[in-house]
Amino acid sequence: MSDLPKRVHLMEVGPRDGLQIEPKILTTAEKLELIGMIEDAGITEIEVGSFVNPKAVPTMADTSDVFAGIKRKPGVIYRGLSLNTKGVERAMATPNIDLDGRLHVTASEVFVQRNTNRSIDDTFRQLPEWIALYKKAKVPVDGVTMMAVFGCNFEGDIPVQRVADLLARTIDILAEHGETLKCANLCDTMGWANPEQIKRVVGTVRNRWPKLQIKLHLHDTRGLAMANAYAALQVGIDEFDASIGALGGCPFAGHKGAAGNISTEDLAFMCEEMGIATGVDVDKLAAAARRAEEMVGHPVPGKVMKGGTLTEKRRRT
Ligand code: ZN
Repeated sequence: MSDLPKRVHLMEVGPRDGLQIEPKILTTAEKLELIGMIEDAGITEIEVGSFVNPKAVPTMADTSDVFAGIKRKPGVIYRGLSLNTKGVERAMATPNIDLDGRLHVTASEVFVQRNTNRSIDDTFRQLPEWIALYKKAKVPVDGVTMMAVFGCNFEGDIPVQRVADLLARTIDILAEHGETLKCANLCDTMGWANPEQIKRVVGTVRNRWPKLQIKLHLHDTRGLAMANAYAALQVGIDEFDASIGALGGCPFAGHKGAAGNISTEDLAFMCEEMGIATGVDVDKLAAAARRAEEMVGHPVPGKVMKGGTLTEKRRRT
């Protein structure tokens, strides 16, 4: 029996995950224009950029400037991604940012080494320092983002038991600091997931921690992102990261030229067509995706941005 949610929350990660891999670095003004169009389409949570080493990821070097240029729209949450305590410190010094007490861990030992020059154990050793920083800023630490949950280009299949073990470790460390994990963002960073696996992993995590909110971050590397999202919706997942135009990918994920994130407007379109509210104007979002395509200067994989929604067609028939 499917158990589709009535409403989903979509967090737009295009300005960060979408643009980080692009060879052309957009100007701060261009990024702000896109963020404006995304807000205007009804998206209420946007990942504006990341606080990472600008030498490693030059497309994100102006993240602080982008934040400084934001004209906050009421009801919209503006996020920045930090992968270590240094990043968190930079985020805390940034105007217009909505800090979320979110920790980052990776389920693949090989990938975390390549991505951050640290082992999984190193990451966990750093968590108390990270938690202390958030606590000092009075930000509740209640979320974890776990990368490479469903498989890794460098390590292969990731056992679901490891995902559960790492979540348990995170929960224990948080408990030692008087904090409770409320949300886990499970990322298919390199596009390994299939729909049945999504149900299996969600089921395993849910059986052990029934109250934990699960969010998914899907990539369309091998064309399965939408099928995976549908599988997730069927088991009641109602929160997703997504990127306009299906832009994006991780610069260290080891697949040049592959399709990027799940497309925000395509996912919103599917949800709306199935009667799941998104709060998003899909036509406006598709226009933002077309504008992003113009800015990056090459075709992007989004579908609805080219095929259009059915709104106009229904009116005419
Ligand atoms: Zn991603």
